[in-house]
Amino acid sequence: MPAAAVGKAPKVKALRPGQVVTNTLGTGGASKPRGYSSFIEFYRAATRARDPPCFAAGCRGRGTSGGHVKLAPSPLLAAFKLSWYIVPACPAHNKRSSCGSYQVKAGTLAVRVETSLADRVCSLPADGKKLVAAAMGKHHL
Ligand SMILES: [Zn+2]
Repeated sequence: MPAAAVGKAPKVKALRPGQVVTNTLGTGGASKPRGYSSFIEFYRAATRARDPPCFAAGCRGRGTSGGHVKLAPSPLLAAFKLSWYIVPACPAHNKRSSCGSYQVKAGTLAVRVETSLADRVCSLPADGKKLVAAAMGKHHL
């Protein structure tokens, strides 16, 4: 068992209102946090938010799923960030995941999630594709 997983509270980070986060790709197969059945359950335990909203600015949906995001304003920049955070999102915002960047509301808390080396390796091709798409101008930067 990795030492980091034992007895260490997850890192919770308060985001700035309007800060832009980018959904990550290739995390569908990421292993769930140890001891939790889902990422949203992990998020609720870390923040004590029982029924978090979708944190996309202007959205009135409920944060029913834990979206994997990187704290970067574009897919291009996200490709260079290694830390992943969980931010609750409604189904629409979570589904838009494919490289969608969005601004967050005031009061958004993101919970850092540890990723195994295997998960990171699995996500690399997706990050690479984002990079290529961004370079070809398919996504605004
Ligand atoms: Zn939403």
